[in-house]
Amino acid sequence: MGLTEIDLHKELKRYFGFSQFKGLQEEVITSIVKGNDTFVVMPTGGGKSLCYQLPALISDGTAIVVSPLIALMKNQVDAIRSISSEHGVAHVLNSSLNKTEVNQVKSDIQNGICKLLYVAPESLTKEDYVDFLKNQTIAFLAVDEAHCISEWGHDFRPEYRNLRHILKRIGDNIPIIGLTATATPKVQEDILKNLGITDAKTFKASFNRPNLYYEVRPKTKNIEADITRFVKQNDGKSGIIYCLSRKKVEELAQTLQVNGIKAVPYHAGLDAKTRSRHQDMFLMEDIDVVVATIAFGMGIDKPDVRFVIHHDIPKSIESYYQETGRAGRDGGEGHCLAFYSYKDIEKLEKFMSGKPVAEQEIGHALLQEVVAYAETSVSRRKFILHYFGEEFDSETGEGASMDDNVRNPKKQHEAKDDAEL
Ligand code: ADP
Ligand code: MG
Repeated sequence: MGLTEIDLHKELKRYFGFSQFKGLQEEVITSIVKGNDTFVVMPTGGGKSLCYQLPALISDGTAIVVSPLIALMKNQVDAIRSISSEHGVAHVLNSSLNKTEVNQVKSDIQNGICKLLYVAPESLTKEDYVDFLKNQTIAFLAVDEAHCISEWGHDFRPEYRNLRHILKRIGDNIPIIGLTATATPKVQEDILKNLGITDAKTFKASFNRPNLYYEVRPKTKNIEADITRFVKQNDGKSGIIYCLSRKKVEELAQTLQVNGIKAVPYHAGLDAKTRSRHQDMFLMEDIDVVVATIAFGMGIDKPDVRFVIHHDIPKSIESYYQETGRAGRDGGEGHCLAFYSYKDIEKLEKFMSGKPVAEQEIGHALLQEVVAYAETSVSRRKFILHYFGEEFDSETGEGASMDDNVRNPKKQHEAKDDAEL
């Protein structure tokens, strides 16, 4: 690419206004700029987008970015457009564009103005787009949320599996960049295999979140009172409470409201207007608590969420890590409290029983890890990090004491007995 002489810090400042790279960003960017296949594993909020955006902005041609959600792509394109005065520097290509808009995108690519082209994987398979892109200068392909490739990931999308094949049709030797916040060795293996990158430069950041406190409590029939009490003890702080069902979301939000807590529900059953109003209320701090299904959270960047409560145990450790990861983004306190009863595990198993056998087996294996997490009497942080293939010293590691099992080693047995009442 002949970009080795470029001062990355200067470009970072110029395009993004930041004076320092975060974590491994500089190393990742250098690898991409050199044209290497690159694999990036960084926790949510680690700054993965910039890892491909900056190289795209300073490279010849267009970088194709595959991302699973149209909303996420739109956010990113808006953000890029706001930092670059050049019109057309980033585009989304999807089925909602009319012919004139598509032609505009195409001409911006042809003219070398469009540096970042965001596409959903299913759009990329379109003959017309493939034929067009074949004749363009493509800097690289970035596959964001690359865990969508793997059935072992928490958000499997079959269309992601065709990416390698499509890219081959677009051109030879186009570097691939995979990015994910899913750190399990199994998912990583799947990603590399599916993207066909055998000798990727791999960059993996630590997943330890030393400011998060992990706690599991037994789930009894007093769960709503327990949660209400917790929220009242944390009066005025922002928090998210996850429930499995929409019905429970509505009920619990109401219980909290009745108890004088500023809470709103959020789930996919609410109309888009209400959802975005509730989300804004949370971001603007008109309310303190969002009671939500997992529909809430993707792309939410509120730095001072002080607690994340799970009314129902999640279906995998990864989901738990993602969902609790929304707490304490600013480095301040973040209390992660999960209520656990084995009955919920049985319920989740039952939900899966209608699914294909392979899916059930995976689901079951993931759930068993959740059981092990909930029932463990050792450091929860160590457990989570071990799950992600990372060593952690539960005595000297950063954040080692931020854990109910470490602070109060006996509590677990009592907790288990309670739960089985
Ligand atoms: P990820 O995709 O890894 O979850 P994002 O790319 O969404 O993370 O970035 C998370 C936040 O970090 C964003 O608000 C982004 O602006 C910010 N960020 C990224 N790089 C830097 C940097 N070098 N300095 C300061 N903030 C950064
Ligand atoms: Mg991201």
